[in-house]
Amino acid sequence: MKSYEFELDDTELEKINRFARKPLSKDRVYAFPVILCDNEIDRDGERFSVSSLEKLSELFVGKTGIFDHDPKGSNQTSRIYETFIDKQTGRTTSYGEELVCLAAKAYMVRTDKNKPLIDEIDAGIKKEISISCSVAKKICSVCGENIYKKPCSHIKGKSYGGKKCFVSLEEPLDAYEWSFVAVPAQINAGVKKTHEPAEKSSKQAFDSKRLSEFYLLQDNLIKKVKALYELANVKDEQLLSVTDKLSVTELIALEKRLSEGLTRPSRPQLDIGHKDIENYRS
Ligand SMILES: [Zn+2]
Repeated sequence: MKSYEFELDDTELEKINRFARKPLSKDRVYAFPVILCDNEIDRDGERFSVSSLEKLSELFVGKTGIFDHDPKGSNQTSRIYETFIDKQTGRTTSYGEELVCLAAKAYMVRTDKNKPLIDEIDAGIKKEISISCSVAKKICSVCGENIYKKPCSHIKGKSYGGKKCFVSLEEPLDAYEWSFVAVPAQINAGVKKTHEPAEKSSKQAFDSKRLSEFYLLQDNLIKKVKALYELANVKDEQLLSVTDKLSVTELIALEKRLSEGLTRPSRPQLDIGHKDIENYRS
């Protein structure tokens, strides 16, 4: 893999400052290269076509990158300010096409908090890049059907007439974000990419930002429900452990019922043993 290292000179800084709210000085900026994805078949048996990579190169400009250990930390985000398509001359994919990479330049504002992270990137600590995007079509390499619309009988990874079946991800619709995912050092050397294009359609598109917000909501609901249990003096271990597995919809309904229970003293689980309270309310 060739090196994408570059110098943070005035030209680069100017490009970065197009994205910064206030112009940044060179000493406040850390810029680094990343490989977002390529046209090799990934572990899901899917690949981006070169035209998809070209479309993604437009879509990823300005997109935020996060670091998996702290997706909420504002100090841990970086932004892509430039992308480029790189033909890896002389290297071919497993299905015999020229290997093409979608690479990018990203920057972050240096802070005390992200210094360890910058040191890690500088030191080449192994990280994988994972991207999330949506595509309009998934084409079977054997029969050419769009399997979104018409699933075929071909199986990814299986050989048909000497050729391995894969799914080509076509016509990217949107790029959401990208992230650094720490991987065990022994698996990959250097910064390497994985594709995470496993979206079923634009509607079902995997949006990791929305997903992390969703988990946060779920977490908060669980905490709220458990606090309500405590107020209602519910100590059923089984009920408490089941609560962790409830869906957001179920949690919302449960929270509503428990809150109602607290304001309506007639509910049996909230019977506080003072019959005359009810009389006062009548
Ligand atoms: Zn097929």
